[in-house]
Amino acid sequence: MNYRHAFHAGNFADVVKHLTLVAILLHLRRKDAPFVVIDTHAGRGAYDLKAEDAARTGEWMNGIGRLALLEGDGALAEYLKLARNKDIYPGSPLIAASLLRLQDRLIAIEKHPEETALLTSALGYFPRAKVEEDDGYRRLAALLPPAERRGVVLIDPPYEAADEFLAAAEALRAGLKRFATGIYLLWFPIKSKAQADAFAGEVLNAGAQKALRIDIDLGASPPTPDGKDRLRAAGLIVVNPPFGLAAEMEALLKRVAPLLSENAIAGVRWIAGAE
Ligand code: SAM
Repeated sequence: MNYRHAFHAGNFADVVKHLTLVAILLHLRRKDAPFVVIDTHAGRGAYDLKAEDAARTGEWMNGIGRLALLEGDGALAEYLKLARNKDIYPGSPLIAASLLRLQDRLIAIEKHPEETALLTSALGYFPRAKVEEDDGYRRLAALLPPAERRGVVLIDPPYEAADEFLAAAEALRAGLKRFATGIYLLWFPIKSKAQADAFAGEVLNAGAQKALRIDIDLGASPPTPDGKDRLRAAGLIVVNPPFGLAAEMEALLKRVAPLLSENAIAGVRWIAGAE
């Protein structure tokens, strides 16, 4: 387990992932009924953009750093309020915890002990958030179905291991068996079109009846302080997306993608079912 999200926090892929997460959470908040958020690979929750690891890659400068002048409403306003103009960039568990109501809860699972300790401190002020140091895939099976019968599961592994795509799809399959109506948000890197398409195929094989795919490709690797080539394309699959999310994400990407890169190509499409 060498992966540390601190090198990548606030990059273009985080921007699109977290914007989508916020949009989903705002949909869930439209009903009074409680919901649960399960974050299977939570990370440390708060990332100091001035710290050495973030500065070394400079990825955030080509992500949240490019949204300095952006204005908006709804999910965009909420995301910018949480993520911008601060030295600390919020990870998915901190974003989710910030949007919980009294009746909702978050379970954030992280395997790495040091990351878990930092996450526990980042979520210290959120009584409705619980941190677990464990394997996110193993715990997910045990946590479903949630008592609330409503909610979102974020599956955001590091994709260090060659079989991580299969593990993520397998977790979805197990999840859908226990909690068929849940919303599942899966993030994945796009290093080749064939690998990304194969993953989308695995998601369908896992039993997803309704699924959206959201892709962003910057077109070129953005310049970074260390001059190294960085990830330039990433995707999300949303299984059982809330009604209206597809159109909303399309409109949001139209505004955000050109700021992330002048050559960006971003799109939203149904890979299973439709509205
Ligand atoms: N979801 C976070 C966010 O958006 O802010 C970023 C998560 S980062 C991409 C992946 C995290 O998963 C790392 O912190 C890593 O330590 C952790 N991890 C790796 N394998 C894991 C496992 N089997 N179960 C839980 N966490 C794991």
